[in-house]
Amino acid sequence: ELHAANQRLRALARTDELCDVRNRRGLRSALTREFRRAERYGGALTVLAFDVDRFKQVNDAWGHAVGDSVLHAVAQALKHGVREVDVVGRVGGEEFVVLAPETPARDAIAVAERLRRAVAERAVTTPHGTEVSVTASCGVAALSDVHARSPEELLGFADAALYRAKALCRDRTHVAELVPTARSSRP
Ligand code: GH3
Ligand code: MG
Ligand code: MG
Repeated sequence: ELHAANQRLRALARTDELCDVRNRRGLRSALTREFRRAERYGGALTVLAFDVDRFKQVNDAWGHAVGDSVLHAVAQALKHGVREVDVVGRVGGEEFVVLAPETPARDAIAVAERLRRAVAERAVTTPHGTEVSVTASCGVAALSDVHARSPEELLGFADAALYRAKALCRDRTHVAELVPTARSSRP
C-alpha cells in the first residue's frame, strides 16, 4: 500500500496537472535517461520543441479558461500522435517538448509535421459555440546532427531551431543544422 502511494506521488510530481502530460521536471528526467541511453548504445534521439503560435491572442480574445482548454487540446493532440516510447512534456506556459528515441532527423521531420497537423486540426468549442484552433511552430534537433554534449545542450538546439521557425513566420518546422564538433573540425 505504501509502495503504491509512493508511486502515485512520484507520478504526480512529474505530471502537468492542466495538460496531463509530463511537467518540466518529468521531461528533464526522461531526457537525461534517453540521452544517456543513446550515448551508451549509439542510438538515435531527436528532440522536438513546440510553441503555440500567438497564444496570447487566444487568451485575449476568449479568456484564460478557453486558453487552458486549448492548451489541454494541444497536449492531447501531441500525446495521441506519438508512439508509446516517445515522451511528451509541457515545459512552459504554451511550450511542449516531444522526445523521440531511435528516431533519426529525417523521420523526426515527418513526425513534427504530422503532430503540427494534429494540433491545427484539434479545435476547442467555446461556451458561445465558436470553434477555436491554433497552429504551432516546431524546432527539431537530432543528436546525430548537432553533437550535443549534454541533455540541456540538445534541448537548447531544439529551442534555437524553434526560435528560427518563429522568426520565419511561425506555423512551420525548422531543423537544427549539422554542426561539426571541435574534434572533427580540426585538421
Ligand atoms: P508567439 O507566436 O511568438 O509564440 O506568441 P505567443 O502569444 O504565443 O507568445 P507569448 O510568449 O507572447 O505569450 C504566451 C502566452 O501564454 C502568455 C501567457 O499569458 C499565456 N499562458 C502561459 N501559461 C498559460 C496557462 O497555463 N494558461 C493560459 N490560458 N495561458 C497561459
Ligand atoms: Mg512561448
Ligand atoms: Mg507562443
